[in-house]
Amino acid sequence: MDPTKLDAIILSHQHIDHANDVNIMIEAMTTGGYSKRGALFAPRSALEDDPIVLTYVRDYLNDIHILEERATHTLGNVEISTPLRHVHPVETYGIIFKTPRYTVSFIVDTRFFPELIEKYKGCDLVVINVVRYNGKGGKKLDVDHLNLEDVKRIIKGISPKQAILTHFGFTMIRSKPWEAAAEVEKETGIKTIAASDGMEFDLANELA
Ligand SMILES: [Zn+2]
Repeated sequence: MDPTKLDAIILSHQHIDHANDVNIMIEAMTTGGYSKRGALFAPRSALEDDPIVLTYVRDYLNDIHILEERATHTLGNVEISTPLRHVHPVETYGIIFKTPRYTVSFIVDTRFFPELIEKYKGCDLVVINVVRYNGKGGKKLDVDHLNLEDVKRIIKGISPKQAILTHFGFTMIRSKPWEAAAEVEKETGIKTIAASDGMEFDLANELA
């Protein structure tokens, strides 16, 4: 993507593997601050508790919108809503993008809890962060992340037209994400693919 053509940047939470480039992206979107433009959406915690968004770049933006549970914002003809706070060590929100034609749910980092299924239902496409393959055969780690078994349950419950798996940890990489995606597709009956670096997904073509 050409950052100078972006309308907005959305930060789900302040963890470094998600927020590391936020300042660089704001600089790029605003041509180093020469053209004041665009919006940032972020949880309050990312701006106040761990102020990962530097103060000087905040002035380069037209707007900063605070993400909150059950809030909806409008960006052009896209509705951006954050239906519920995720169970994760810091304030984290998944996002539902609603365009005139499609609804896309982006389920970011979280521990599994049943409301995820209920709140992200009714979408055409679900993009979901799956960090761990599973706890089988090893020490089951107690972490606030989804594993492949959780993801199968969520995809089955939401029943979108298609699903994209992303944000893989080492156990997912080792299990070959495309094979994990095939396993999800086989067990849920929902077309599922694994994201890869640089991958593009054309909603109009892929969801037709
Ligand atoms: Zn995280």
